[in-house]
Amino acid sequence: MSYEFWFVVGSQFLYGNEVLETVETRSREIAAKLTEVLPYPVIYKVTAKTNKEITDTVREANYRPECAGIITWCHTFSPSKMWIDGLRDLQKPWCHLATQYNVEIPNDEIDMDFMNLNQAAHGDREHGFIGARLRKPRKIIAGHWTDERVHKRLSDWMSAAVGVAVSKDMKVMRFGDNMREVAVTEGDKVEAQIKLGWQVNTWAVGDLVAEMDKVTEAEIDELVAVYEASYDIATDNTEAIRYQAKEEIAIKKMMDHEGCRAFTNTFQDLYGMEQLPGLASQHLMAQGYGYGGEGDWKVSALTAIMKAMGENGNGSSAFMEDYTYHLVKGQEYSLGAHMLEVCPSLAAGKPRIETHHLGIGMNAKDPARLVFEGKAGPGIVASLIDMGGRMRLIVQDIECVKPIMPMPNLPVARVMWRAMPDLQTGVECWITAGGAHHTVLSYDVTAEMMRDFARMLDIEFVHISKDTTPGKLEDELLVKDLIWKLK
Ligand code: MN
Repeated sequence: MSYEFWFVVGSQFLYGNEVLETVETRSREIAAKLTEVLPYPVIYKVTAKTNKEITDTVREANYRPECAGIITWCHTFSPSKMWIDGLRDLQKPWCHLATQYNVEIPNDEIDMDFMNLNQAAHGDREHGFIGARLRKPRKIIAGHWTDERVHKRLSDWMSAAVGVAVSKDMKVMRFGDNMREVAVTEGDKVEAQIKLGWQVNTWAVGDLVAEMDKVTEAEIDELVAVYEASYDIATDNTEAIRYQAKEEIAIKKMMDHEGCRAFTNTFQDLYGMEQLPGLASQHLMAQGYGYGGEGDWKVSALTAIMKAMGENGNGSSAFMEDYTYHLVKGQEYSLGAHMLEVCPSLAAGKPRIETHHLGIGMNAKDPARLVFEGKAGPGIVASLIDMGGRMRLIVQDIECVKPIMPMPNLPVARVMWRAMPDLQTGVECWITAGGAHHTVLSYDVTAEMMRDFARMLDIEFVHISKDTTPGKLEDELLVKDLIWKLK
């Protein structure tokens, strides 16, 4: 889907045709500039002067799948009662861009005609009131339309809106159920479909094995050539690599046939398979598919969505698991990995394909997997949990570092990071909020983008940043628990 955003500009008839023509010309100019600098086109739609113009535009925006959101602005004053019906019915993400055409107040030229034409400061306040009065979720971005900071914030908001469009279209293919007895990977799939749009359904592992049996040697040769071009082969066990290729081809065929963008499996149900998909899952994630281990469909769908929100629609986001800590004073870090399935979009260098014994689950043969170190740099980890009656999205800021030790006997991809505000406080906050051991780790999706995403979907959002303390967080969660019970 090629997404676009619609630019809806507010005005009224009071100023005469000449002013309305100027408003339209300038609005087209602004839309063209924003299209030039932003990742998605901004389409000028209307200079709205009546209730009907606004409701017609909103109805069309709701109906069009390519419209990922609307951006509104009031060049002049635009009385807000005519916006009520349209905004009440709006089902797409909304950004109120509080800008104005000119940068400067022209000292010599300014007169009442100038004031009438350039009264965004006035019009955007009327527009802001009706947004607040309707309790309508919206993003407000203020600043000049040529300012790079405004462009960056609009771009991030667009990414969140595209995340919502992807979410509303999300189908997850589950092979097997959740890992037995685990609580945090469970969740209300009906609630997830109502709030997030996710269609989460199951397919038999036996059907996957039957699909694997149909994969040809020629198809495997072709995919192994892709592996060889992308990764260093650090094993003589070509049979294990070819088996992973067969798994990848079969999983991809089944997902594409059903329109699924994410999948789960569990090491406790590999009936008829010789290896847990490792390299297979990793290479599928590299192509933008979501994955969650142990049947974790929430993290799988969130991985696919956050990948789509990232750079060029397939960014540096991946399924991750907190494994173990380094608690040496002054060097406090988390070490994250998974049994096999870490996406190579996190890799600092070229990943190696290795085969090793996997001691957990039913693995008749040693699975092939990609092994690498994660990149250094700022990022986030995100976790979606079911609180009973509502979903809570928890995001923590982190700083990834080059792993401070080589760990030559660790046969999996690994990422090392420092949680904010520091490891101990960060862990206390994360545990207080109920965050899972499974997360999506991202280098290019920010906490503000996830906050926008949560606001658009009307789910609870908790942010653990450098300023969070366990006490303040505990109070915040108590208040939110009450609010979300009332909603
Ligand atoms: Mn796990």
